[in-house]
Amino acid sequence: MLSRTLSEIKWRSELSKIPIPLSVRNDPLLSNSLVTLIEGGRISRETGANLHRNSKLPGLTALARMIKQSRFGKIVFFNDNLHVNTTNVCTLACRFCAFRKGSRHREAYSLSAEDFVSRIEPFSGVIDEVHAVGGLHPDWTIENYSEMYELAKSRFPDISIKSLTAVEVKHISSRSKLSIRETLQILRKSGLNSLPGGGAEMLVDSIRDRICMGKEKSSEYLEIHEIAHELGIPTNCTMLFGTIESIEDRMIHFDKLRTQQDSSGGFQCFVPYPFLEDNSRLPEASLASGEEVIRVISLSRIMLDNIPHIKAYRMNIGDHLASIAINSGADDIDGTVGHEEIMHAAGSSTRLDYDSSTLARLIDSAGQEPVKRDSTYAKFEPIIPNPVIDRQSLPIVEQ
Ligand code: SF4
Repeated sequence: MLSRTLSEIKWRSELSKIPIPLSVRNDPLLSNSLVTLIEGGRISRETGANLHRNSKLPGLTALARMIKQSRFGKIVFFNDNLHVNTTNVCTLACRFCAFRKGSRHREAYSLSAEDFVSRIEPFSGVIDEVHAVGGLHPDWTIENYSEMYELAKSRFPDISIKSLTAVEVKHISSRSKLSIRETLQILRKSGLNSLPGGGAEMLVDSIRDRICMGKEKSSEYLEIHEIAHELGIPTNCTMLFGTIESIEDRMIHFDKLRTQQDSSGGFQCFVPYPFLEDNSRLPEASLASGEEVIRVISLSRIMLDNIPHIKAYRMNIGDHLASIAINSGADDIDGTVGHEEIMHAAGSSTRLDYDSSTLARLIDSAGQEPVKRDSTYAKFEPIIPNPVIDRQSLPIVEQ
């Protein structure tokens, strides 16, 4: 707790030393927000909504960039990871989801523990994290997950397992007749290291009832993360935007997360991502434009004063927007990923074949400094990207 308080003071004091760009200085809304943050205050939901609607993009991104800089300088983090989806069979049918299948669908699959491990095997020499989420399988209980994690840990003890959205935890606990706390305790013993944070969607129940009926309530999402934090399991948190929510709903979402973080303190990273519409069932969605995506990422950096990291999730927003986002408040672009189904089923075309050095080059070419991190932001390694070969300057060799 003390170190968190000290790091709070540190970024605010660093923020006071950064030269203020004209785009911030000349806009009273932005400059007042800057003063509020430097003085230890918090941006209210009302001010956040006002910034969202009325601030000009260059000023908003500049303020978010200053905050990011006060925390991490020019550093942008990434990691070597692999996504494995455990099953696409799901008892729910969230309207934004292009990934789930009914259990009799010809493309339905459910991995065994051996399947899970063989997905990891080819990447095991380079990754330090496996990110594993899936649907709510009607027949699976805690044994299925324990078996997967135990087998993976026995083969790859150094790979961190970041797995299960809050609704999966709830589903496992109810299928296994255990409390949430017992479920997490057992899974941690089996090898679970952290939770990825997916499934927060919009933490406003009237919106959830329309886009993901049957999913856990907002309070349950927060409670599951709170219990994880109490058990010392770090988690991320997310926000799906660009469906049917209002700007005020987004502010409520930010406010609930930071209130939760004030009390339980275990969120490592916030991951905002826009709804992608392919193969989904949400025709009334107001899709977020590229500008809006950057606006939301910047606002998240400004509003979430107690969550250390903001991720530009390139699997969802693509490399181009991710490059802009890391100059607009985000300090992380996730990882190498290797395989991804959830965003690609919904229309993402982000490449999956990047290695560490390609990611480092992406960060470097956006004017930031790439640092490889481990899954829980405990170990860091600065990476000097390989120079891009200028083909024009290569000598011509006579054949
Ligand atoms: S988002 Fe998750 S819970 Fe909802 S339908 Fe898709 S897989 Fe199931």
